[in-house]
Amino acid sequence: MALATFKGGVHPPDKKELAKNEPIKEAKSPQRVLIPLSQHLGAPCKSIVSIGQEVKKGEMIGEAGGFVSAPVHSSVSGKVIAIGDFPNAMGKMVTSIVIENDGKEEWTNIKDNPDYIKLSPEELKEKIKAAGIVGMGGAAFPTLVKLSPPKEKPIDTVIINGAECEPYLTADYRLMIEKPKEIIEGLKILMKVLNVNKGFVGIEDNKPDAVQKMKEAAKNEPNIEVLALEVKYPQGAEKMLIRAVTGREVPPRGLPMDVSVVVQNVGTALAVYEAARYGKPLIERVVTVTGEGINRPANLMVKVGTLVSDLIEQCGGLKNTAGKVISGGPMMGFALSSLDTPVTKGTSGILALPEEGIAHAEDFGPCIRCGRCIDICAMGLMPSMLSILSERGFYEDAKEYNLFDCFECGSCAFVCPSKRPIVQLIRLAKSLVKP
Ligand code: SF4
Ligand code: SF4
Repeated sequence: MALATFKGGVHPPDKKELAKNEPIKEAKSPQRVLIPLSQHLGAPCKSIVSIGQEVKKGEMIGEAGGFVSAPVHSSVSGKVIAIGDFPNAMGKMVTSIVIENDGKEEWTNIKDNPDYIKLSPEELKEKIKAAGIVGMGGAAFPTLVKLSPPKEKPIDTVIINGAECEPYLTADYRLMIEKPKEIIEGLKILMKVLNVNKGFVGIEDNKPDAVQKMKEAAKNEPNIEVLALEVKYPQGAEKMLIRAVTGREVPPRGLPMDVSVVVQNVGTALAVYEAARYGKPLIERVVTVTGEGINRPANLMVKVGTLVSDLIEQCGGLKNTAGKVISGGPMMGFALSSLDTPVTKGTSGILALPEEGIAHAEDFGPCIRCGRCIDICAMGLMPSMLSILSERGFYEDAKEYNLFDCFECGSCAFVCPSKRPIVQLIRLAKSLVKP
């Protein structure tokens, strides 16, 4: 039987073999953490601590700055030693709190509640809100907002995104292998909050053992179905996943709630379970440190605020051949200009690529109108035209070609024989015109 999928897409080499067999290990607790007050789309948090203040692990240090916002918590116990502007993974200066780790790992009050599933939807939502949970697949959108759809947009389906279609990354894969029951519990909590009786887990078919583990964990849940999906990038993009799992088409510029669906990542489902059961805030996450440029690839449980340089050191350092370090995967990630950048709630991977094979900006050529990018764009766009208009400065005209429907998956740049920086040109146009 044909596996569920979407139109378009590409098949980059998946390179997951580098880290997929590395079980999740606790990363070394860093000497200090640098915790940005803005780690997600929406309003930045407001600091509620001052320099010199002692904090416990899990203590709130930044409160939500609005509805589309999520609080941040200390990932270590120790003392606040600085509050100031530091660069994030995209090179943008962000107000951040620096905490010196006292190494005592002293937790703020958290308590096991084995009866969490009996809590009311409102109580569960409150726990998710207090834990500062955001989407952990990369975009880091506050989870509470997705769980609060307007009345006119009723939700009937929750999908857990286990596609992990970005090459190299294996954090979600390891979670599905090692914590399948907890992920299913997280899905049940999300279904209860949204009063939904249909839940899916969508996993690309190149992870048959993860499909098996998740099916086993869901075997007594008649309302939950685990689906194997065709291996194709960007299968894990929300709109593509919804299409593959439910057959529903999210309208242009629309949201999953327009077709009655909420999508959450595997890591987010685990964080939801831990918040509901233990009241544990989102202070750590699994990060895949991988690539041909790193000595010892690994999947590490990392405290938010740990510097990338600390993680690279724990993985045996960079090889001499390493040319570029990326936060995220090779298709949608961002090249880091400094390794003293902190891991945030949305950091799924740190990827070190060898110098050989890296395309440099000056290498690109003119569009030869081969049409390959148009054939594979999952959104049905004309990436060639968008890149040409942006290159020539006709940013407003790019809107006529549905500029804002592009979700920057990078597939067009991947297939372009002229190595055109299509996504960078699209991002430039988006930053200069209003939607
Ligand atoms: S135009 Fe945007 S959505 Fe289409 S392939 Fe390129 S990056 Fe992906
Ligand atoms: S793939 Fe590259 S060269 Fe071919 S049409 Fe698209 S932008 Fe032009």
